[in-house]
This record gives sequence, structure tokens and C-alpha cells, in this order.
Amino acid sequence: KLIVFEGVEGCGKTSQIQLCQEWLKSLGVSVVVTREPGGTPLGLDLRRLLLEVENKKIANTTELLLYAADRSQHVEEELKPNLEKGNIILCDRYTDSTIAYQGYGRGLDINLINVLNAIATGGLESDITLWLDVDIEVGLSRKRAADDIADRIELEAIAFHRRVQEGYSQLQASQDKIVRIDASLNPYAVQKMIQTTLSDRLKS
Ligand code: C5P
Ligand code: MG
Repeated sequence: KLIVFEGVEGCGKTSQIQLCQEWLKSLGVSVVVTREPGGTPLGLDLRRLLLEVENKKIANTTELLLYAADRSQHVEEELKPNLEKGNIILCDRYTDSTIAYQGYGRGLDINLINVLNAIATGGLESDITLWLDVDIEVGLSRKRAADDIADRIELEAIAFHRRVQEGYSQLQASQDKIVRIDASLNPYAVQKMIQTTLSDRLKS
């Protein structure tokens, strides 16, 4: 199964994935954690190119294609082999990030992005996608409090982040497999909701 975590900056994906991994391990489930961009050696180089603050001159379409390149490598090298082994994959960001950030955020054509996502994934879709929904202001200030070095995207105007958030909200409204998790609660309450959701939805 491919379980994807999505959400805006500071929504808590990384810590929730960690807690979720520990939980699944404790149940004896064989689980792999990965992320986009940067889930492969090539992808790590692409991640650096995409996120370094110095790289200011990345055209929107160039950015879109670099994310697609990262994804196609990730699918071939990491996702497909692990699914074939029967592992559960917890993936930090996937195709919906491109729709939210490059589509809603940058304003690129969503239909075109859907086609590109289909090419990059070879049709591999998540089994369930958990959207960790937190107010963008709360998310961004959480990130700053964590004393994280800001990346190129975090420095975007607040209006950009609002459009991204709207993108996630629209995606969630139109797809049953995208589950909204209220990520404004404390981390343990959020994790509890994630566990309940996964136990419920992944019985088969
Ligand atoms: O979630 P994580 O912090 O690893 O994401 C790295 C950065 O890449 C974030 O700032 C996110 O906004 C950005 N990103 C993006 N477009 C994507 C995927 C991630 O702008 N398609
Ligand atoms: Mg980030």
C-alpha cells in the first residue's frame, strides 16, 4: 500500500510519518518511509536545486519538470520495488503536491499537470492520502520556531501559500481517498486520528 502525507509548510508531516512508522512497526508491519522531492540519490540533487534559496531563477515550467523528474525516478527506484515486496510505504508528498504548489500556487494548467503526473508515475496512485490541514500562518510560524533554515518556497508571499492551501482543500473535496486530518491539534491527537483512519480504511 502507498500511503501519502500532504499539506502546507509546517503541517507536521515529518513527525507524523515518524510516529506512524513506529506504530506500524510495533504491529509487525513492514514499513518504508520516503519523500518527494529527494527520495532517491538523483532526487536529492534535484531537491537541492529546487529548494536552495540561491536558485532564484527557476521558471515555473522548469520547476514543474524538475518535480516530475524527481517523481519518475522515485517511482521506478523506490516506490515500485517496495510495493512489489509487499511493504507499506509512507510517502511525504506525491502528485497532489504538484497540483497544489505548481497548479494552484504557480498557476500552471491543472490538466497539463495531471498528464505530467500520469507520465511521471506510470499510473501509480496512492491508496490513501492524508491531508494534514493546518492554517498556513500557524504552519509557517511553527517552521520558524523550529529554527529550520527557510527554503525557497517558504519565502514566497503569503498569498502563494493561501492558493496552495485552497488547492489541497479543492482536491480533498473532490476525492474520497483524500482524508482531511485536523493538524492544528497536538501531535498525539493528530497521530491518533491518523491511526484510526488507517485502521479503518486499510482493513483489506
Ligand atoms: O515537505 P518538505 O518541507 O520536504 O517540502 C520541501 C519544499 O518543497 C516545501 O517548501 C514545499 O513547499 C516545496 N514543494 C513545492 N512543490 C512541490 C513539492 C514541494 O514547492 N511539488
Ligand atoms: Mg520545507
